[in-house]
Order: sequence, then C-alpha cells, then structure tokens
Amino acid sequence: METLSALLYLVASVCFIMALRGLSSPETSRQGNFFGMAGMTIAVLTTLALPIVQSYWMIVLGIAIGGGIGYVIAKKIEMTALPQLVAAFHSLVGLAAVFVALSAFYSPEAYGIGVPGAIAKGSLVEMALGTAIGAITFTGSIVAFAKLQGLVTGKPLVFPFQHHLNAGLGILTILLIVWLVQSNADAPMWLIVAVSLALGLLLILPIGGADMPVVISMLNSYSGWAAAGIGFTLQNNLLIVTGALVGSSGAILSYIMCKGMNRSIFNVILGGFGGDSGASSAAAGGGERGTVKAGSPEDAAYIMKNAQSVIIVPGYGMAVAQAQHALREMADLLKKEGVEVKYAIHPVAGRMPGHMNVLLAEANVPYDEVFELEDINRDFGTADVAFVIGANDVTNPAAKTDPQSPIYGMPILDVEKAKTVFFIKRGMAAGYAGVENELFFRPNTMMLFGDAKKVTEEVVKATE
Ligand code: NAP
Repeated sequence: METLSALLYLVASVCFIMALRGLSSPETSRQGNFFGMAGMTIAVLTTLALPIVQSYWMIVLGIAIGGGIGYVIAKKIEMTALPQLVAAFHSLVGLAAVFVALSAFYSPEAYGIGVPGAIAKGSLVEMALGTAIGAITFTGSIVAFAKLQGLVTGKPLVFPFQHHLNAGLGILTILLIVWLVQSNADAPMWLIVAVSLALGLLLILPIGGADMPVVISMLNSYSGWAAAGIGFTLQNNLLIVTGALVGSSGAILSYIMCKGMNRSIFNVILGGFGGDSGASSAAAGGGERGTVKAGSPEDAAYIMKNAQSVIIVPGYGMAVAQAQHALREMADLLKKEGVEVKYAIHPVAGRMPGHMNVLLAEANVPYDEVFELEDINRDFGTADVAFVIGANDVTNPAAKTDPQSPIYGMPILDVEKAKTVFFIKRGMAAGYAGVENELFFRPNTMMLFGDAKKVTEEVVKATE
C-alpha cells in the first residue's frame, strides 16, 4: 500500500506541475485546469485510502460543510470580487496550518513525532515554521481582504520605525523558535502564534493602492509555504510538494508583478512599499489641464471605420460592465472593414493577475490579437486609435512624470501616442490608485461617457 500511495502521489505531483505549465499561457490554460483537477482527485482519493484514516464521518462532514459553502460562494461571486475571495481563502490555509501545528504540539503521539514535552527537535522546527508562516498568512490575508473589500482604507498605512518594528518582530520569532526547540514548552509556542499574527497585520497594512496585486500573489506564496510546513508535520510528501509548488509559483508571480509595477521584491517582502512614494497624494497627476472633449458612439464608429489600426486597451471597467462580448463584436466589424485590431494588456489591468486575458478568452478573442505591454507599447506611436475601455491607472502618464504619485515608476501603456484616444468610462472618476489622469484633458482624447457595455453596443450599432 505504501509503495502504491507513493506512486499515486508522484502521479498527482506530476499532474500539478503539468497544471502550472498549462496555466502559464491562455491557449493551454483549460488543459492546465484539467491536469490540476485530475491531480487533486488522485491526491484526495489516495489520502482517503491510507491506513492512517480511521474514520470517515468527520472527513465527510468537513467536505460537506466546506464544499457546500464553497459551492454557494463560487456560484454567487462576481469575477471582479475574486481578489478579495482569494485573500479570504488564503487566510483559511494559514489558519489550518496553525491548527495542525498546535494539534501536533499537544498530541505528538498521534503524529508519531514523540510524546508531549519530548517532541523530536526537527519536528518542533517544522511545526514552529508552519505556525509562524500560517499565522502571518492568516492576519495578512484578513487585512488584504478588508482593504480589497473596502472595509478599511485601501491606502497604505505608514508610521515611523515601521521597518525596524517588523525586523524586530522577525528576529523575535526566530529567537522564540530557538527557545521552543530547546525547551519544548507551551509559552514559546503561543508567543510564536501571537508575534506572527501581529507581524502579518504589520506587513500588509503599509501596502495599499495600486500595489495590492503584488500582495495577493505574495500571500498566495505564503499560504503555499504554510501548507508545505503542515506537510512536514503530517509527514505527507504530497502536501510538501504541493505546498512548495504553490509557494514557489506564487513567489515567481510576485516577482513578475513587481517587475510589472517596477517595485522591488525586497520591499514587498518587508511590507514597506507604497509608503515612500507619497501615496497619500491621492489627487496627484498634475499636468496642464485642458478641456474635456466628449464624443458620441457614432463619432467613435466613424473614426475607427476609417482607421488603419486600432489598439484596444481593456481595464477594470470592462470587467464591471462585462463588455467583452460587445467589444469582440466591435472588433470583428472593424476587421471586416479592413482595420487592423489588436488588444494591449497591462500586467495589472483589472483586479487580479490575468483578469483581462480571462475575459477576452471568454469572448473568444483570438489569442494572436492579444499582446503584453512590452510587445505592443511601441505600436501606439503608429496607431490611429487607442480605444481605452474601462482602463485608467494603466494609461496614466503620472507614472512617468510625477514622483509624488502612488503609481510613479509603474510602466504604463503609452496610449497618448496614438492619433486619437477614446476613453470609455462613466464619468471623470479616478481609478483604483485614486489618481487623476491628465490624458482626459489632452487635445487628442475624446471621452465616451457611459457604461462600457452600453457604449460599445452603441458603437457596434453605428459601425454596422
Ligand atoms: P482602474 O485604474 O481601476 O480604472 C477603472 C476605470 O473604469 C475607472 O476609472 C472607472 O471610471 C471605470 N469604470 C468602472 N466601472 C465602469 C463601467 N461599468 N463602465 C465604464 N467604465 C467603468 O483600472 P485599470 O486601468 O484596469 O487599472 C487597474 C488598477 O487596479 C491598477 O491601479 C492596479 O494596480 C489595481 N489592482 C490590480 C490588481 C490586479 O491584479 N490586476 C489587483 C488589485 C488592484 P468611472 O467610475 O468614471 O466609470
């Protein structure tokens, strides 16, 4: 049985690796999801068949309650609210890690790692690390959830000596782990829980505004390492492998997001970024204000029909309005008129990594028309039209020109270089980072005010 379960765990691990590989590109992402589901089915069934499982009723009850809640949430959740849902789920992974470690600490014989008061030293290190990372993930994810849900301010909360305090708490945690390993006492274990809970809060509170995407992938990574920690305590190889895969892929994604936002990964890990760039100056953006020119869908249709090339820039507003199907219809009509149509995707457009890619794929937009920022940015200079639909921050030149701006340093899509720029949005409101966009006042900009889906449908009608 042991050999068979090891073999099946290996198959599940390979499936998870194939899943990650598949999910790295929109073309293969369905296949990747399939591998992920197959791997998880093999993993769960194999674990349930292990001889250490003595009773099923608690497991079935847990699956029924958790699965039931998960099913209802998955049915109800709006795609734009996924980031906060992911954050909430990460908090549960962190909490589970703390609970498993504490149960192993108080009933070590059940885990075959010693008796109370005399636990193997290696196991104490593993459970202390699992507890610390799990507790940090728990409170950090709760703060991220509250920020993304708008329950607390999304702005970075900064205070003096923040880094020193965080570094001090980090060192204190290491000292407590040493104390725990040497003494096997209750006090250091509970102090590790308390200090790590506080550290989770303090690490995520200072991060805010446009930097939240990195936080989500970072907490994803933390939750993976917490799961790997539980894997060591439970002596379950698959959990160690899976946790490490989640941990490392989350870390790689954080790195990619940091590159997209032009932030330093070390600042993220230390929980101090967003604070030193004057993030509080919400209305930064500056620039000479011209007048706002509002156009009609008919104007847009006329200009685009007579254009040679149109670059579409989708953003959060497209997701809110669910305008992707109407958008594809518009692009199809323009292509029929001989216009070259491309889509430009900013790495943090929308509210979660890959948000725009998912929506465009849902509307069957051909993958070869969708380009990443670095592959398309220079094309704006020769484009006739940039059609910005519900995007704002990702086009804001304040990121290049205003060092006081919270988005300063983030690479942006250079839409203003196109001959004409259309912005579809409901009013003059700022985007997620709370920064005014001076492009709305530029002479080559025409605002198309209204809900993104409605306006696009009207453009479609006027193009037909
Ligand atoms: P954005 O800067 O948040 O701007 C979205 C714009 O859409 C708003 O200015 C809003 O203006 C408009 N809008 C909202 N609902 C609309 C509707 N129904 N119809 C038409 N327009 C609508 O979006 P973005 O340019 O995509 O930038 C993303 C921002 O979110 C970045 O700051 C990024 O850092 C942050 N963020 C990203 C992630 C991620 O992982 N991608 C996660 C969290 C945060 P009106 O209200 O005037 O209509």
